[in-house]
Amino acid sequence: MRILLIEDDPMFGDSLTEALGDAGMSVDWLRDGPDGELAIAAGGHALILLDLGLPRISGLDLLRSLRKSGNTTPLLVITARDGTADRVDGLDLGADDYLVKPFEISELLARIRAVVRRQRGHAVSILGNGQVQIDLASHEATAEGATVVLPAREFALLQALLERPGTLFSRTQIEDRIYAWGEEVESNAVDVLIHSIRKKLGKAVIRNVRGAGWMVEGRDR
Ligand code: CA
Repeated sequence: MRILLIEDDPMFGDSLTEALGDAGMSVDWLRDGPDGELAIAAGGHALILLDLGLPRISGLDLLRSLRKSGNTTPLLVITARDGTADRVDGLDLGADDYLVKPFEISELLARIRAVVRRQRGHAVSILGNGQVQIDLASHEATAEGATVVLPAREFALLQALLERPGTLFSRTQIEDRIYAWGEEVESNAVDVLIHSIRKKLGKAVIRNVRGAGWMVEGRDR
């Protein structure tokens, strides 16, 4: 899952990027309002984490123009301000949830899952197509009776495919979903990840369409 983080505090941004990375998410981190605005326009993120106190364009202004433009990307406000007014403004302007700093990473992760789940209309943190099933909270994948905990990047890849069963993804589309901007990606990285997933869960869980890409079967149940 690819996340857009807009946060000007270097230490906080650093630790958040690392923690989210450990949880299998790739993070594009922008440090002020105008850069954040450009990144939002570029799109491709499953969720936006938005600090309210930002240089040049405030988080609330960013949020206002984003929702006005019809962008419905799930958005979580993170802020040092504990003023009730800011929180109410954020929610009224279309934030899906908010967290006041400091907070536990485990709470942030749970809220991210909840917000993304709500947007996708799932009741629980489970994605599956009848053949393979993943648990977004525990990072467990189950297929053919075997359950394994997948490493972050393998999990992110399988999640991307399972979000659209029956849809063919090209190499570039997969890379866009699991790597952040500017991240070094080996030309065979996707093949290596898929090879490893198949080894653990069975060859049939991911179908290869030669020269075109990969997909999971579209038997959503
Ligand atoms: Ca700030």
